[in-house]
Amino acid sequence: MLKKIIIIISMFCFVSCPGHQGTSAFLSNNYKKMYKTSVCDENREFPQMIMIPFFENATQVVPNCETYPKHQTALAMMVFYHHWVKYFGDNELKIKQALEKAMVTWGTKKKTLKLAYNMEGKKIVNATVIGLTQSSSLVWVWQGYGHKISESSLIHELIHLSLRALNGHGDFDHEGTKRDGWTAEHTKMIIEAKNMLRSFNI
Ligand SMILES: [Zn+2]
Repeated sequence: MLKKIIIIISMFCFVSCPGHQGTSAFLSNNYKKMYKTSVCDENREFPQMIMIPFFENATQVVPNCETYPKHQTALAMMVFYHHWVKYFGDNELKIKQALEKAMVTWGTKKKTLKLAYNMEGKKIVNATVIGLTQSSSLVWVWQGYGHKISESSLIHELIHLSLRALNGHGDFDHEGTKRDGWTAEHTKMIIEAKNMLRSFNI
């Protein structure tokens, strides 16, 4: 009987006590030597690739040292993950793993695409875009209005990246009906995460 109770308790815990998850999962990452030596150097040629601390193998490609200091990018990614876990969970750590191999390329100029989709899933021809998710790990992000990460599309692109890790595609038409994945909750999460970035003034 006692054995049964213990098994039931442990099963219950397995289901409902996720334990070490959430943003703290990143903070356990030691401040490795690799991160200390991977710094932006004003005197070297740009673009430069820099390791993003706390995110294992994540990197950013920067056009200058101000866009953006690596700890700002790391903080923005932590804020993203915090919100993702709050909204959707990450029991299998697929999102964490996707973030840990992501490469964020920052751009100083917007791009023009022959075809893009707006938030409602409507086709836009010759669209000016401020961000692009190029593969399961590559994200391109314009530096943002007023040179702030909170006013860039980083959080938006990380949602595409995460949906890709979960569903095999990033749902290019957002809340449109061509592909599924992106919901109104994802759009709401972006607003909330961006507000948190603003409170950190990044
Ligand atoms: Zn998009």
